[in-house]
Amino acid sequence: MNTKAPIYVTQPDLPPLEEFMPYLQQIWDSKILTNGGPFHKQLEAELADFLGVKHISLFTNATIALVTALQSLRISGEVITTPYSFVATAHSLLWNGIKPVFVDIDPQTFNLDPACIEAAITPQTTAIMPVHCYGRPCDVEAIQRIADDYNLKVIYDAAHAFGVKQQGQSVLQHGDLSILSFHATKVFNTFEGGAIISPDARTKQHIDHLKNFGFVNETTVVATGINGKMSELNAALGLLQLQHVGKAIARRKEIDALYRSLLSDVKGIRLMEPPPDTDVNCSYFPILVEPDYPLARDVLYQQMKDAGINGRRYFYPLISDFPMYRGLPSASASLLPVAKATSSRIICLPIYPALSDEDVARVAALIRTPSLPVAAPAAVMASTQAQHAGTAA
Ligand SMILES: *Cc1c(COP(=O)(O)O)cnc(C)c1O
Repeated sequence: MNTKAPIYVTQPDLPPLEEFMPYLQQIWDSKILTNGGPFHKQLEAELADFLGVKHISLFTNATIALVTALQSLRISGEVITTPYSFVATAHSLLWNGIKPVFVDIDPQTFNLDPACIEAAITPQTTAIMPVHCYGRPCDVEAIQRIADDYNLKVIYDAAHAFGVKQQGQSVLQHGDLSILSFHATKVFNTFEGGAIISPDARTKQHIDHLKNFGFVNETTVVATGINGKMSELNAALGLLQLQHVGKAIARRKEIDALYRSLLSDVKGIRLMEPPPDTDVNCSYFPILVEPDYPLARDVLYQQMKDAGINGRRYFYPLISDFPMYRGLPSASASLLPVAKATSSRIICLPIYPALSDEDVARVAALIRTPSLPVAAPAAVMASTQAQHAGTAA
């Protein structure tokens, strides 16, 4: 029986509570709770600075931000997107009455394959919605070329890409808009929260109207807006989190390096190469359980669970397999072979700043020496030995 404390795929990073109390006092004193208050303004400014972008609009969460981004660009018809993501990516399209068109991903990066994008364009296509999966940048140049050639908008779901830079430049400045998530499970969290990165002040202003019911002043409503505003409580927490996030990402990088040193020689376990010229945030540590690993992915996943190690199969099932999507012509598994294979092999290992080196070693040890199934009589001796070796380790 496992007696050690369970390890989860992530654990939210929180600042010391006493550091938050002065912010709360200020809110209680001012009685400004929302509607673009002082903490909201300050967080927009500090985040823009930290991320290396010019125009940022805070939101209540990334899903509402995605829905609003599509509204702001008046996207309709068909949008090409990835099946290998969190379900909110495609849900934001359905909430706008847009037809998602799923195309396959690149086997190295798990991001949209530009060649597949181009092949899926029809006269109804109006935009591309790629995801920087696990915070690894998409092929932004190829995607922009296609968008320019076919006059399409590009809206990046950048929920995983907080702080990611390529050749020193923020990955968030590509495309027409980029959307961040500050959900509890993300690298930078405000409990719930999100943001849209705009290329210019005019676009930001339009988005700011849309997230506030379409109000431009006390009496004028110019658009069918929604309520997507971030509260002062979340914004204040964000300001405090921002002071700690550099340290948190640095610790994630150490854990990433430790996993790599412990797992790179395990037969049948594939790690993702770090992307070239990129300052990553190590938001996830994905491994692929390949056919030459002694166990099937789900068997390893269950063994980890039984040992109190809660990895997650991000992203299994594919979005295209959920009931509201699987009837779409583009959802057919035969059209998405790379996404399908990746989804059936992926496990994201626990990674978060408070994870100890000992726990990383415990996760790696289980993957290195799993309990082997007793398959055929000839294999019994060998697997029993391996099992003993595994428990002794
Ligand atoms: C977390 C996530 C979202 C949704 O973010 P919320 O802030 O929870 O709405 C959207 N897309 C991706 C890729 C995500 O990982």
